[in-house]
Amino acid sequence: MKAQTAVPPHSQAAAGAQRDVASSLKITEIFHSLQGESSLSGWPTVFVRLTGCPLRCQYCDTAYAFHGGQRQTLDDILDSIDRHQCGHVCVTGGEPLAQPACLDLLSRLCDRGHVVSLETSGALPVAAVDPRVIKILDIKTPGSGEQQRNHWANLQALQAHDEIKFVICDRTDYDWAADLIRQHELQRYTVWLSPSHAQLAPRELAAWMLADQLPARLQLQLHKHIWGDVPGH
Ligand code: SF4
Repeated sequence: MKAQTAVPPHSQAAAGAQRDVASSLKITEIFHSLQGESSLSGWPTVFVRLTGCPLRCQYCDTAYAFHGGQRQTLDDILDSIDRHQCGHVCVTGGEPLAQPACLDLLSRLCDRGHVVSLETSGALPVAAVDPRVIKILDIKTPGSGEQQRNHWANLQALQAHDEIKFVICDRTDYDWAADLIRQHELQRYTVWLSPSHAQLAPRELAAWMLADQLPARLQLQLHKHIWGDVPGH
């Protein structure tokens, strides 16, 4: 009889943890609200906020999603989304793509017929994201403190329905973003410039964009005007 090799308990635990990471996600919150950003602004939307982000933008308004969260299976997450009976789903963070099972969640949401958007920092590759997903790709400006994290190959992975967002902290950021838009002809996509809340007056950014005839759109965060800067909206 062949001797059986016992699998050490720590290997079993490691294999179990790997299975969990492939079939579940750490979730900070799932909630129903109005989309406050992008060309989908104003649509009732279910938001799935994934826990964790490898970046630390100085203006971050979702630092509460950096840690904690609850691990949930994809099936449980889909059940929670279904309860809201809503056509639009936005997967956000944190940085959703930092968790491998996010790609599977996105595809399963598309399979169910949802309009699916993904809000991503632009620091991780988006090439493997289901092409049915509308990617809202941040480009991190110098003022964010995370400019070096931009994964520039992402610009080659964008599709016509994807959108690009810059958070602008000051005039230096504005000039940097304007140069980048023109240099890479980013106006092929919908490009948004948002003033960093409490750092730059919308009126000032609007004046720069008008004077410059920049081929981009100014964006204010609708949800903050309705509910303020609070989690769950
Ligand atoms: S990428 Fe987004 S969630 Fe992460 S630190 Fe920057 S603003 Fe916050």
